[in-house]
Amino acid sequence: MTETLEEKGPSPTDIDNCVPILIGEDQAGWLCRSAPMIEVDRTFHRQSWCFYCRHTTHHSMVLRNTIEPNYWGPSISIRCDECNNVDADLFPGRAREWDGL
Ligand SMILES: [Zn+2]
Repeated sequence: MTETLEEKGPSPTDIDNCVPILIGEDQAGWLCRSAPMIEVDRTFHRQSWCFYCRHTTHHSMVLRNTIEPNYWGPSISIRCDECNNVDADLFPGRAREWDGL
């Protein structure tokens, strides 16, 4: 059974950021672009070395969200308070594992 675009599409609030796409003859999907995000909250995380600033700085846990409801939900990142780079406290090439904050 094949779903129609209306059955599996994004919510009405997302419709401006999404376009329907066809995948093969009987499959359809949605392609959604990201929306502008703003900083909602910033909480001190820890003081550590920033690999961009090249000295010890404050790092904060930053919560960002879209201005209006969107397919893309809120995101959390660790940012340097001086240069605002994400994961600036990690050695270059390393990724943060969120389970072990
Ligand atoms: Zn920095």
